[in-house]
Amino acid sequence: MATKNILIVPGDGIGQEVTAVGKKVLDAIAAKFGHTFNYDEALIGHVAIEATGEALPAESLEKMRKSDAVLFGAVGHPKYDNDPSAKVRPEQGLLKMRKELGLYANLRPIKLFDELLSASSIKPEILKGADILFFRELTGDIYFGEKGRKNDGDTAFDVAEYSRYEVERIGRKAFEAARTRKKKLCSVDKANVLETSRLWREVIQKLALEYPDVEVEHQFVDSTAMMLIKNPRRFDVVVTANLFGDILTDEASQIAGSMGMLASASIGDGTGVYEPIHGSAHDITGKGIANPLASILSAALLLDISFGMKAESDLVISAVDQVLKEGFRTVDIADANTKPENILGTEAMGQAVLKFL
Ligand code: NAD
Repeated sequence: MATKNILIVPGDGIGQEVTAVGKKVLDAIAAKFGHTFNYDEALIGHVAIEATGEALPAESLEKMRKSDAVLFGAVGHPKYDNDPSAKVRPEQGLLKMRKELGLYANLRPIKLFDELLSASSIKPEILKGADILFFRELTGDIYFGEKGRKNDGDTAFDVAEYSRYEVERIGRKAFEAARTRKKKLCSVDKANVLETSRLWREVIQKLALEYPDVEVEHQFVDSTAMMLIKNPRRFDVVVTANLFGDILTDEASQIAGSMGMLASASIGDGTGVYEPIHGSAHDITGKGIANPLASILSAALLLDISFGMKAESDLVISAVDQVLKEGFRTVDIADANTKPENILGTEAMGQAVLKFL
C-alpha cells in the first residue's frame, strides 16, 4: 500500500475529456489495491494562456516538480494552428515542460490488441504478436542544436549534436527495459554517414559490455523503417536519437491501428509525464466521442514506470483487452463488424473499463 501525489494536467480540447477518464481508472486501482492517490490539477496550453497569459505558468511547473507523476492530456487550439505568427502558443507549454523537467527519454509501447488487427493498414498475419518498446531521445539532436540562415537567407542549417553523456543515459534506460522483456535491444543510427551516429554506436557498444544478458544489434535507420513494416515482430526494445525516433514512432503507430489507442511516457531523473500520443482533436471536442483508451493506457504506464506497480498496470491493460474482446468500440476503432449498440462514447467506454477492473 502506497501513498502517491498525482498531478492531473488535462490541457486543451479532448485532453480534458480523456484525462478525466484516465483519472477515474487510477481511482479504481487505488481503491482495489488499497493505495492512496492524492490529486491536484494544473493548467497548460491554450487554457493556461487564456487564464494567465502563459502556456506553462510557473505555478503549474512548480506543481509538476512536487508531484510523483503527471497524467497529461494534450495541448492545441485551432486559433494558433491558423496563425503561425502568434507569439504565445500552446505547444510552447509542452516543450517547456519537457525541458524544465529534464524529460530526455520518450517511451512508446507499440502493441496491437488482437481484437484490433483489422483496424491496421498492415496485414494481420504480419502484425499478430508484434510488441515493441521505443526509446526516443527527447532533448538533444538536430532539434536543439544551432540553427540559422546564411548567404542572405538562401542557405539554412541545423546542427545535430550529441554528447557521450546524453547517449549513455538513454541507452542505460533502454538496456534496463530490455532486461525486463525479451532481452533484445536494437540501436538505430546512421553510423555510415553521421558523426553523431558514430558516437551513438560507440557508446551503446560500450554499454553493452555491462549488459551481457541483452542481445544487441545496430541497424541503420533506413533499413529499420523498412523492417518495421516488413516484420515488426523481430523487434523488442528499440533505442534511437530524437529525429529518427520522431519519424519511426509515427510509422510504428500505424501498427497499433489508431491514434486513440497509443500511450507514451516521457521520463528523466525526476517527475515522469504520461500522455496519449494524440493531440487536442478539435474536430471532435465536446462531442463526447473521443477514445479514452490512450489516456487509460497512459495511466497504466504511469503505474508501472513511476510507481513500480506492475500488477496494477497489467490489470488496467487486461481490462482494456477485455472490453475490446467484448466487442465494445469507440467510433474511431469501430468497423463494419461492430454492432451499433457496442459503439460507445468517451464516458461509457471509461465505465466499461471500470466494470472489468
Ligand atoms: P490530433 O491527434 O489532435 O487529431 C488527428 C485526428 O485523429 C483527428 O481527426 C482526431 O479527431 C483523431 N483523434 C485523435 N485522438 C483521438 C481520440 N482519442 N479518439 C478519437 N479520435 C481521435 O492531431 P491534429 O488534428 O494534427 O492536431 C490538433 C491539435 O492538437 C493541434 O493544435 C496540434 O498542434 C495539437 N497536437 C498536440 C499534441 C500534444 O499535445 N502532444 C500532439 C499532436 C497535436
